[in-house]
Amino acid sequence: MATAAVLCIGTELTRGELLNTNATWLAEALTELGCVVLEMDVVPDHAAQLGAALARLGREYDVLVCTGGLGPTTDDITTECVARVLGVPLERNAEALAAIRARLERFGRTPSPSNDKQADFPRGAEILPNPKGTAPGFSVRLDRALTFVLPGVPREMVHMFRESVAPKLRGLVTGGRRQILLRTHGLPESEVNDRLAGIEADFGVTLGYRASFPVIEVKVHAEATDEATAAARARAAADAVRERLGARVVFAEGDVQFAEAVGKLLVERGLRLGCAESCTGGLVGQLLTERSGASRFFAGSIVAYENAAKTALLGVPSALIEAHGAVSREVARAMAEGARARFGVDVVLSITGIAGPEGGTAEKPVGLVHYAVATADGTTDKHFVFAGERDQIRLRAAYAALSLVMRVLYEGHANRAES
Ligand code: ATP
Ligand code: MG
Repeated sequence: MATAAVLCIGTELTRGELLNTNATWLAEALTELGCVVLEMDVVPDHAAQLGAALARLGREYDVLVCTGGLGPTTDDITTECVARVLGVPLERNAEALAAIRARLERFGRTPSPSNDKQADFPRGAEILPNPKGTAPGFSVRLDRALTFVLPGVPREMVHMFRESVAPKLRGLVTGGRRQILLRTHGLPESEVNDRLAGIEADFGVTLGYRASFPVIEVKVHAEATDEATAAARARAAADAVRERLGARVVFAEGDVQFAEAVGKLLVERGLRLGCAESCTGGLVGQLLTERSGASRFFAGSIVAYENAAKTALLGVPSALIEAHGAVSREVARAMAEGARARFGVDVVLSITGIAGPEGGTAEKPVGLVHYAVATADGTTDKHFVFAGERDQIRLRAAYAALSLVMRVLYEGHANRAES
């Protein structure tokens, strides 16, 4: 078992000006590699605190990953502190120096002596290249700990960890482990948990749950004496999870957004989607276009917020709005059908609701959302009173409408009158 510690360096962190996302990311990445993270520390850019933390963590753990303080400014002191704790001098590395200068020149900047400082490393360090930024990282043996010193900028840190740190740690950790991340939508966390009762014992895995609103992630983690056994166990358990929750609930494995999964299904069916949004103000369109490739299935979203816009842009008769109100089953259906005619696409979803905090009545409370999905075969509508603040209601409504698209694609317009 390799024990590990994470040390994040920066006065911005200890003053509370910066959220320590590096620590969370590294803890997760190290855990996935099979290290047991036992400590996460934060120190300011002060030589005394930093030196003391390095010395102690180096003594106590097998692996130490540090981030921050590798920049060109005088407050960036990580490298010299590591050298001091090791009792070795700093040495300028000609190759790193050339790479730093070349990079700055490529961006039209003149290298200064401060930049040159970023080519200094403790004697004996192994240099870790930084293709995403200026300052290279490095690796040293600090007492007991195999130590990695990475930049603070998350993008650079992540890249360096994946390219230069993870390959070294893989050799260190014995046994096999495999984790499969299943992303679910549509069932409450408690119900997901209940339906999966017994899986841990049956398959020899551990399940982890994380609500990442409004998605619930289920992590299936397997450990065994070798990689292949762990992988087979995780796969079998993940298949059982999929089976118990159903294909519409488990919308993806791995790093896939819900809207992306809906898009994938549309592409598989050769269909295109358009939207007519009122209370979500274009949120569905935003979710659908978050990742590249959306043009393959997404036509566009008409944001028709005021009543007049619903009439002008979507052809919803004003008499219909007067008779039933803008937040009604009839208007949701008319919005979807109107948008379908205008976009000329296969599938359209519509959303109209009261996101609050104002505008609710006894009959139509805050959170009431009517939504509909129209295709050539017909229109299905639903309504729901979503709980939460305005942003949560809007996000829940967007997910619910996308979920209805998925249902119509899987099952057709089975329950036209269902609410
Ligand atoms: P630079 O060359 O930009 O100075 P550096 O390696 O010296 O990089 P820092 O100066 O410590 O890194 O941090 C640079 C920026 O990276 C910070 O302003 C912050 O935006 C981000 N950053 C640093 N540490 C963290 C952290 N622990 N979590 C999230 N972001 C961080
Ligand atoms: Mg800096």
